[in-house]
Order: sequence, then C-alpha cells, then structure tokens
Amino acid sequence: RDYQSVGLIIGVTGIVGNSLAEILPLSDTPGGPWKVYGVARRPRPAWNADHPVEYIQCDISDPDDTLAKLSPLTDVTHIFWVTWANRPTESECCEVNGSMLRNVLNALIPNAANLQHICLQTGHKHYIGPFEAFGKIKPHEPPFTEDMPRLNAPNFYYTLEDMVVEASEKKAGLTWSVHRPAVVFGFSPFSMMNIIGTLCVYAAICKQENTPLKFPGTKAAWNCYSVASDADLIAEHQIWAAVDPYAKNEAFNCSNGDLFKWKHLWKVLAEQFGVEYVEFDESEKPMSLVERMKEKGPVWDEIVRKNGLHPTKLEEVATWWFGDVILGGECLLDSMNKSKELGFLGFRNTKNSLISVIDKMKAHKIVP
Ligand code: NAD
Repeated sequence: RDYQSVGLIIGVTGIVGNSLAEILPLSDTPGGPWKVYGVARRPRPAWNADHPVEYIQCDISDPDDTLAKLSPLTDVTHIFWVTWANRPTESECCEVNGSMLRNVLNALIPNAANLQHICLQTGHKHYIGPFEAFGKIKPHEPPFTEDMPRLNAPNFYYTLEDMVVEASEKKAGLTWSVHRPAVVFGFSPFSMMNIIGTLCVYAAICKQENTPLKFPGTKAAWNCYSVASDADLIAEHQIWAAVDPYAKNEAFNCSNGDLFKWKHLWKVLAEQFGVEYVEFDESEKPMSLVERMKEKGPVWDEIVRKNGLHPTKLEEVATWWFGDVILGGECLLDSMNKSKELGFLGFRNTKNSLISVIDKMKAHKIVP
C-alpha cells in the first residue's frame, strides 16, 4: 500500500499518544493515508492493541536501545512527541527530557531522508513555570498568548523547543510546531498525569464505600472558570499542524474553546458513577487526595475483582498528586485566537469530553 505520510508517535500509550494512535490511521485523516509507528516503554497493553499501529517497545532514555530500534524506520515523515519523564528537580527534567529527544533525533535525522515535521507537545507550564516553581515565580497574566516571553526559570519545555528549532534549522525541509494544552481530558491508564482517570477512580471508591462525592480541592478551583484540552482535539490539532503550511514553525495553545466550572462537572461525574453529589463545604478541613486515598489500595483491588475489571493497581490508574495540583487552585486561562486565525477551528464541549472519556474508561473496563 502507498502511504502519503508515515507518523512516529513517541509515547503511544500516553494520554494523547493513544488518541493519535486511534485517529492517525483513519481513512479520512488529513495528510493520509498514514502508516503509523508507536513507541512506548512497556509491552503493548490490551486497550491500545486495536489501533492499526506498528508497536515498538523501546526505552528512549537509552541511546543504544533507541538507535537500534528507531534508526531502521527510514520512511518516517512526521514525529509526534507526546512523552515526558519526571525527575525531582526541573534541571534534572531538562537533562533527561533533552536526552530522550536527542536519542530519538539521532536515530531518525540521519536515516529518515523524508522527515518533514516534528510536533512537540508541551503545555501551560510554559507560562506558569514548572511544578517546583509554583508559588515562587510570578506566572504570566492570563489569558496566555503564544507570544509571551519565557519565564526566568529552568523549564524542560524550553529545552525541548530549542532542540526542535535547532534540528529544523540544520535539516532542509524539516519544520516544527509546538502544542501547549491545558489539563488534558483523555483515556490512558498509563498516563503520569490523568485528571479524569484519577477522578473516576476516586468516584468509584466513594461509591464502593457508600460516601458522598466530596470535592477534594479548594473553593477557588470549585468556583473559577477553567479550561481543559480534550486528548482527541489535541491529536487533531497536531495533525492539522503536521499538514497545513500556515502552521509551520509556530507554537500554539491548544484548549477546547469553551469554559467550565468544576462545580458543574462535579455533578456530571457523580451522575456517571451513581454516587451522591455534594457541594463544596467550606466548613470542612481541607484534605488532599494523596492524604484521603493513601490506604485505598485494597479497596481498589476489591473494586477490580468484584466488577471483573481489567487488572490494574491503584497507583497506575490514579495520579492523586496531579489531582491535588489541578483542584488546588484557580485555573489560568489561555487564548485560542492564534490557532483560529491560522485556520484551526476545532473545538470540544468540555462536559461532553468528560462524558466521552468516562464512557471509554468504562468500555475498556478500567472503572466500573
Ligand atoms: P503521558 O504520561 O500520558 O504518556 C507518556 C508516554 O510516554 C507513555 O506512552 C509512556 O510509555 C511513554 N514513555 C515515557 N517514558 C518513556 C521512555 N523512556 N521510553 C519510551 N516511552 C516512554 O504523557 P502526556 O501527559 O501526554 O505528556 C506529554 C507532554 O504533555 C508533557 O510535556 C506534559 O507535561 C504535557 N502536558 C500534559 C498534560 C496532562 O494533563 N497529562 C497537560 C498539559 C501538558
């Protein structure tokens, strides 16, 4: 079969990687027909196996493994960078994420003669600084726009951007785009930061223990306007940038295009899991998800067993610390004007995005 484009998804089991794996091979995807390779560290999970993608198990932090497994992919035309590694400090994050990207570029650039474009996913931390700097450096004034200058703090997003720009300057015909989502609503039981997966597990535990669905965040998060980014929409945005000449060598915010409040989504979440909805209660002592959920491993094991779910451990499917970050303060908003002005008119209704992620989690038997 003749393919017009050949995509390499780095992080194919992640929250956006899994959406790219689903959408890229579809017959009506722009730039297609696409042949797709997908890289991740672990063996291929069952919930990813239906996507027509050539799965490559490879540790991209290992230069030898990366060279051995990725240098034979000489037909790759587009790289989709939807991965990251966490470390205790941001300067270590810069180092490890930079070397992962370097390993992949070293394997691809000399061998994939027709490499045309790199989509790099970063995020809102471009404008507010890395987790370790929260509360220490002054973020940009929202709504965030792509032309805001960098903050004066180490940030692995900046490291990756610089590397991609440099690679494109060195190789004729190679372009790039940067995609900066807000919190992502998507499906992946392997993601290191999955807010909806985490909240679904929280709701399932409340149901199992017959307790109401208390909001574990702050009043500010409950009441404020928030933005989110649907994982399928991010995949569509990256595919748009991969094929549209107007999107080349540009950075873009990538959010749903509507506003929501957690107090409204909370009702939807409660309904979806048949658990009692309660309003945020200011008189209660605040308690983080990490604290609330620290003894719940056996409860989750029982939920999995009782409902015949896909076997998972609580720490895989719930990223409590991330729930605490997202629900811990006011969301800072971004602007989608640049994408719209350059021709990307995609959007999502965030409430429907939430329901569709929950449906997927249930269909794959990750949650009851
Ligand atoms: P993720 O955690 O959902 O997925 C990571 C993927 O990379 C997985 O497939 C994993 O197997 C793979 N991977 C990790 N280390 C690897 C290695 N050494 N070798 C091979 N594969 C490896 O990722 P994500 O959340 O989509 O993160 C991508 C970027 O998006 C990050 O920079 C992140 O900060 C940013 N971001 C994420 C969110 C969110 O809500 N998840 C929000 C905004 C920005």
